Amino acid sequence: PLSENDAIEDHLITVCVRKRPLNKKEINRKEVDVITIPSKNQLIVHEPKNKVDLTKYLENQLFRFDYAFDETCSNEMVYRYTAQPLIKTIFEGGFATCFAYGQTGSGKTHTMGGDFNGKTQDCQKGIYAMAAADVFRLANSPKYRALNLVVSSSFFEIYSGKVFDLLNNKAKLRILEDGKQQVQVVGLTEKVVSTTDEVLKLIQKGNQARTSGQTFANSNSSRSHAVFQIYLRSNNNMAKIHGKFSLIDLAGNERGADTSSANRQTRMEGAEINKSLLALKECIRALGRKGAHLPFRVSKLTQVLRDSFVGSNSRTCMIAMISPGVNSCEHSLNTLRYADRVK
Ligand code: ADP
Ligand code: MG
Repeated sequence: PLSENDAIEDHLITVCVRKRPLNKKEINRKEVDVITIPSKNQLIVHEPKNKVDLTKYLENQLFRFDYAFDETCSNEMVYRYTAQPLIKTIFEGGFATCFAYGQTGSGKTHTMGGDFNGKTQDCQKGIYAMAAADVFRLANSPKYRALNLVVSSSFFEIYSGKVFDLLNNKAKLRILEDGKQQVQVVGLTEKVVSTTDEVLKLIQKGNQARTSGQTFANSNSSRSHAVFQIYLRSNNNMAKIHGKFSLIDLAGNERGADTSSANRQTRMEGAEINKSLLALKECIRALGRKGAHLPFRVSKLTQVLRDSFVGSNSRTCMIAMISPGVNSCEHSLNTLRYADRVK
C-alpha cells in the first residue's frame, strides 16, 4: 500500500480510489469485505457469484489508478496525494478542481468535509480546510507574497438543476453566461477570509445549511452536489480571478439510477444527476485535449465549472470512494468503471 514516502506524481488529471473501513452496520450484518488493495495503485473487487454462497467468486476484477488508498489511510494522506499537489496551480494563475465521487455512504463528505465521529464533523481534517490552510501558507510565503493576493470562499449546492447559496440561507441563485461564455453565479456569497478558523466557520455554516430540515428518508444531501470554492484575487484588481480551487462533494452516483422510480420528483432528480455525472466525465476527459467538444451546458454542474475546464492551466483530481461491503459490490463496480474512464 501507499506510504508517506511514495513520490507525489505530477498529472493534469489524477484519478484515485479510496476504500473506507467496514462500518458497524456492515459488521453487524456480517458483510464480507470484497475489496483488496494489493499495491499503491491497484484495487481488486472480489465479486461473489451470488449473494447466497459467498465462498464462490466470479473472476477477480483488477483496476489501476494513480493511487489507491486503503482503509488505513487517513484524510491527511489522501489530501497529500490528491488536492495538495494542485494548490500551486492556483498561485500560478490556473484552475484546480477536486471531486469526491461515489455512492451514498462511501465517504465523500468524510473526505471533503472532515472526519465524522457520529456526533460532530472534524472539519479541520477535511480536504476543504486542509486546502484552505495551505492556500494561506502559500499566500504568505516568500515566493508568492509579492503577488498581493486576497483569498475568498464560496459554498453552494446544486440540487435538481438549481443552485442554492449555502452561505446565505440557501438562497436560490441564477446562472448567467455572457457573450464571452463567462459563467457567473449571480449574487453568490463570496467571503474574504484570512485565517483557517474563518474558513472553518464557513464550512460549518454551509454544512449546517446543507443538512438542515432533512430526515433520513428524505435526505437531499445525497442528491445534491456541494461546491466549495477558494478564490485568489489580486489586491489591485479584485474583479479578476487570479486562480480558483473548486472542491466538490458530488451527489451519490447511485441516485443517477433513480430514473425508473415511481416518484416523479425522484425520477427527475435521478435523470439530472445522471446527466451531470456523464457530462462531468466528458469535460474531465477533454482536459488537455485540444478541440474536444465539451458538453458544458448539459448540466448546471458542468456549466458553473466551465472556466475550470477550458483554462490553459487547469488541473483536476477525482477521488472515487468505495464502500467495502459485499452488498455495495454493484455500486462499487459502477464507481470504478466510471473512474476508469475519466482519464
Ligand atoms: P457520503 O458522503 O459518501 O454519503 P459519508 O462521508 O457521509 O458518505 O460516510 C458515511 C459514513 O462512513 C460516515 O459515518 C463516515 O464518518 C464514515 N466513513 C467514511 N469514510 C470513512 C473512513 N475513511 N474512515 C472511517 N469512517 C469513514
Ligand atoms: Mg455526503
